[in-house]
Amino acid sequence: MSIANELKRTTLKTAFHYLEKDPEKNAVKLMELVDKFAGNGPDSFPKQREAFRSVLEDPQNNMYQLIMSVLKDIDKDVLKATFENFFFNANIVGWPKQEENRKKYGCNIPWAILLDPTSACNLHCTGCWAAEYGNKLNLTFDEIDSIISQGKRLGVYMYIYTGGEPLVRKKDLIAICEKHSDCQFLSFTNATLIDEAFADDMLRVKNFIPAISVEGFEKATDGRRGDGTYQKVVRAMKLLKEKHLPFGLSCCYTSQNLDSISSFEFIDQMVEWGAKFVWYFHYMPVGNDAVLDLLPNPQQREFMYHRIREIRRTKPIFAMDFQNDGEYVGGCIAGGRRYLHINANGDVDPCVFIHYSDSNIREKTLLECLQSPIFMEYHKEQPFNENHLRPCPMLENPEKLRTMVHRTEAVSTDLQSPESVDHLCDKCVNYAENWTPTAQKLWSESQEKKKLMS
Ligand code: SF4
Repeated sequence: MSIANELKRTTLKTAFHYLEKDPEKNAVKLMELVDKFAGNGPDSFPKQREAFRSVLEDPQNNMYQLIMSVLKDIDKDVLKATFENFFFNANIVGWPKQEENRKKYGCNIPWAILLDPTSACNLHCTGCWAAEYGNKLNLTFDEIDSIISQGKRLGVYMYIYTGGEPLVRKKDLIAICEKHSDCQFLSFTNATLIDEAFADDMLRVKNFIPAISVEGFEKATDGRRGDGTYQKVVRAMKLLKEKHLPFGLSCCYTSQNLDSISSFEFIDQMVEWGAKFVWYFHYMPVGNDAVLDLLPNPQQREFMYHRIREIRRTKPIFAMDFQNDGEYVGGCIAGGRRYLHINANGDVDPCVFIHYSDSNIREKTLLECLQSPIFMEYHKEQPFNENHLRPCPMLENPEKLRTMVHRTEAVSTDLQSPESVDHLCDKCVNYAENWTPTAQKLWSESQEKKKLMS
């Protein structure tokens, strides 16, 4: 770490000390410090910081209420570690390092790495392959450690676990948190393996945040995940809240559950549970057994587009939509542009939904994987569409993925039933065509709005 960065870190630690005493008064002061250190360069998020500052000056604002609830509800040491690892290391230190390496190596360098510690899961959810696949595939402790060490050298401090159920490996995950205490870890989880001992471990290591998968209220959750699951999940959230640990939720929306899972009643329930963020995912028709009827139609997707923005304007929880928020991140973030995915077999996929690869982390370095033909195709072709409401080379631009995979001869890395890229892309053609007019209308409206505001 450079002397300049060390100085910034020390000053921010002092600022945090103030926050502990009087969050309302000192939050604005902390922002002044962040402004000072972030500088004025294009990578210093000037607009985001400006928006953040105006929120901190308005106690009636729902985001102000969210920030204050985070400052008051969350264990101070955990909060401090999150601030250091997420804001400071992953962004202020990591982002410029990623940019530098992008230029140096001529390829994408991610902001986050998603990895599956195991293919195993303790539940048997409808439509999920993990329980059948079982404990066959695992990334070893040393492999995960090596991925993170390589990632840090490239400027990556954010690691997100998917699976399988990552907490089947909870002992190893905690040991990894300890070993890489300068990184932020987030884990998608069904939460049923969160118990008192694990919550205490989370408090001790301070850098692990769960994103708990829920399908809606009890009937919907138990219907898909098995009887009694909902109550176990609610118990886990109660425990996390009592221990002052941060957590969020993850929800997959389909044509069937979209109304209930995005209802204000359910959002209010999330806030009451103590969740600080919710991450919505559009159902993806991935895999030979995908059910196309579950794909939201254009009216439903448009509803979600407006609903997520409304939640962000009115509710004290931070809502994100992986498919409808492309405008904030310049379109598709996969292929290492901002993230990549490594499965439990070590295959390095461009995206958690795009299971085609020509590299395995057991045979290549992380950098070599980023420079592999399929990742270089992503690097060359992004953005896949000027309209960031049509960001995906699969869902909204299926010919793009088809061409990239054929050009590179990447192969299916699906662990259970390999699917040809033509089979996958054929399923998306109608969806893409039907969504285009609505996407164009929404995109023009948002561009107009931006012009008026600038
Ligand atoms: S490949 Fe598609 S699903 Fe994956 S990040 Fe890009 S746009 Fe999103």
